[in-house]
Amino acid sequence: MRSFKGLLAALFFFVAACLLNAAVPEQIPQIVWHVLKIEPGDSQTRALLAGSGFEIIGTTPDGGLKVLATSDQRQWLDSLGVKTAVLIYDYGRFLAEKNAESAFLAAADEFATGSMGGFFSPEEVLAFVDSLIASDSYGIISDTFHIGLSTWENPIWMVRVSGNSDGDENIPQVFYNSLIHSREAISMMTLLYFLGFIVQNYGVADSVTDLVDSRELYFLPVFNPDGYEINWRTYRDENKFGLWRKNARDNDENGILDNLDGVDLNRNFDFMWGYNLWGSSNDKRMDNYRGPNSFSEPEAVAVRDFIRSHAFVTALNIHSYGPYLLNPFSYANLHTPDSLTYNRLGAVLTAENGYRYGNATEILGYPANGELTDWEYADTTKNEIIAWALEIGTKEDGFWPPANQITRLARENLPLLFTQARISGFWPQLDSLEQVADSSNSTRVTLHLRFSNTGLLPNREPVTLRLVEHGKGINPIDSVASVQILEAAFPPVFSRDSLKVVFEQWAFSSSVKLAFFEGAQRIRIITAELRRPGEPDYDLDGDGRTSIFDLLALLKVLSSGAPAGEDASKYDLTGDGKVDIFDLLTLLKELSYLQRLKQ
Ligand SMILES: [Zn+2]
Repeated sequence: MRSFKGLLAALFFFVAACLLNAAVPEQIPQIVWHVLKIEPGDSQTRALLAGSGFEIIGTTPDGGLKVLATSDQRQWLDSLGVKTAVLIYDYGRFLAEKNAESAFLAAADEFATGSMGGFFSPEEVLAFVDSLIASDSYGIISDTFHIGLSTWENPIWMVRVSGNSDGDENIPQVFYNSLIHSREAISMMTLLYFLGFIVQNYGVADSVTDLVDSRELYFLPVFNPDGYEINWRTYRDENKFGLWRKNARDNDENGILDNLDGVDLNRNFDFMWGYNLWGSSNDKRMDNYRGPNSFSEPEAVAVRDFIRSHAFVTALNIHSYGPYLLNPFSYANLHTPDSLTYNRLGAVLTAENGYRYGNATEILGYPANGELTDWEYADTTKNEIIAWALEIGTKEDGFWPPANQITRLARENLPLLFTQARISGFWPQLDSLEQVADSSNSTRVTLHLRFSNTGLLPNREPVTLRLVEHGKGINPIDSVASVQILEAAFPPVFSRDSLKVVFEQWAFSSSVKLAFFEGAQRIRIITAELRRPGEPDYDLDGDGRTSIFDLLALLKVLSSGAPAGEDASKYDLTGDGKVDIFDLLTLLKELSYLQRLKQ
């Protein structure tokens, strides 16, 4: 027989459960995502599908479409008269089996060590960040802090990274977030990889140290903790990948999570919310359901309030998959008044990964309203933020790419994330360095320097370019060049100044390090090669210039001796009486110097 005490306890838990109905439920229903084939149809069907939030994951050989859908979503297609057939009944399990081998191969990977096919579980994400905080001897990374609670009352946590110790309140701020769509886990892994790289290289690599000292970087790795919790439980309990995209709002208020639930957080922002039905749905079952009203969701509200209380220069909202970099506007096929800036920066940001850039309609083929990037850029309750959505990976990588691809995808986006931070403030560039010999002194040269600003803000303090390091054979007369205010403009506004240096008679070409300082803050270090005045050209093949063909000529002499009748001494570039590898090195150095001049 049950005791009175037991009944009381049961009653207590019942009441507590009712009061806390927002908290994480005990059970997550098993949701199966099918891959459907949609017969080859007209372009209208295709547009309807794309605009409806269906993920088209590929095509069939006969021109049909492969589409990701739950059974409820399939019914919706049926009701519209769209004919479907099931190609893969359970796509999450299909992916898990496909990836099992690569998870094993990735075991040696130092980064992709998460228990979810290489991806970090919700607990492992926190453990990873905690380990970074513990290993950070310079104190550049903050403790985790909460900006709000999710629908299930999971904390929405962030960290800040900066080496700015003098409390400069106007230091440029940069915002990074990932996993607003919870099945796009490579977005989070990429952001964590970047965070780890920064913490490990601060104080080691000048480029990282300078950047972290002159910026405040804010990281929100898990924008949608409930959606990620759903996908994690699917993996833990059913050993397959979860494909939940939205948050956990109980749309039909039946007290359980089912196919009809969830709001697409990236359609819940109030700039042009509900503008039309393209790429944003008012139908609860759809994956791009925008919610009953703008900012109906606690996750969107938390991020809105956080952004409003800062002054971000740029923001990057990371998704998968593309490979694309999307700029506003998303709600319609329109360009912003800053489209010149967006085009310039799009090219700069994607220089390494080669991703396509443009607005959503140009790149994806359909618009989307109520989207975060548009809000960050255009909402007027705060400053204008130059914002992008980054779509990582290709259709082949898809959602939940194999474990042995995680580090590759994270690494291919490292330059983009770095560049975003660099251009978020004053970011000087040395555009040319020209050596001009002094006619009255054969060892003295003047360095004509030309700089511009490729960042989004002008310098806030006077800028100097200093010669901070030089080889033994150089004796600087001047070591500081001054730079005027460098406006952030396109085309860039150039500024010029010069430095004088003296070469010792015996010195060969030598490298120097030049550093840009904004006030006392070092911003950037640049290495340049200087050449001793009067240093000879090495024209070995007699075509009037020094080129790769001279290298070939020298290699030929090195391997089989000088041609008959030719004086071998012209190949003795070092003047040490023999033709050997040191002559080759001399020529290589000269060629690399000439190459630099051309760039
Ligand atoms: Zn997304």
